[in-house]
Amino acid sequence: MADRVGPALANLKLRETLRTLSIRDPLTGLFNRRYLEESLVRELHRAARTDKPLSVIVIDIDHFKRFNDQFGHEAGDLVLRTFSEIVQQNIRKSDMACRLGGEELVVVLPDAGIDVASARAETLRQAFHDLQLRYQNKPLGSVTASFGVAVYPDHATTSESLLQLGDTALYRAKHDGRNRVCIAKV
Ligand code: GH3
Ligand code: MG
Ligand code: MG
Repeated sequence: MADRVGPALANLKLRETLRTLSIRDPLTGLFNRRYLEESLVRELHRAARTDKPLSVIVIDIDHFKRFNDQFGHEAGDLVLRTFSEIVQQNIRKSDMACRLGGEELVVVLPDAGIDVASARAETLRQAFHDLQLRYQNKPLGSVTASFGVAVYPDHATTSESLLQLGDTALYRAKHDGRNRVCIAKV
């Protein structure tokens, strides 16, 4: 008995450790917040060393609570997964797409300045808007998102302040009517 339980326990522990260490969000397959925070610091060092810009795009789905109330949480999860796929289809392998939690995503674009990042955010905004999703054969209508863009070194130099400014720009996009991209202010 003992020599069968031992390895089984070790295996369980290893699995738990691997899960805790996991860098992916289970629903969307995007990187998680912990991974984003670590990687952003590293990428900013690289950007400084190579004298290149780096952009973050902070994304939040519009009126998502209302959407869940109307269509149900599973339809909401479908939107989250589909938006995440669209994000991954529209970025480079060297870029990083993360789910911060809830219905908030962040894309990190190393080497991208304001123009490239704004254009990418606008592409995503349009793609989300144009989606015609169905769930259990019912059309889900149009779901949109709002976007905040902040750029190293133009707006901030640390990961915290870059994300903070991206978030502030995002809230301006919400305030100005949602379904739009706002750039951080210099
Ligand atoms: P706003 O346009 O201002 O962002 O409005 P909102 O309703 O999106 O904002 P709020 O932060 O009030 O609500 C976020 C909602 O997102 C709450 C919850 O219903 C939904 N949500 C968060 N995480 C998940 C998830 O994993 N799955 C689903 N289906 N819904 C989620
Ligand atoms: Mg929202
Ligand atoms: Mg939110």
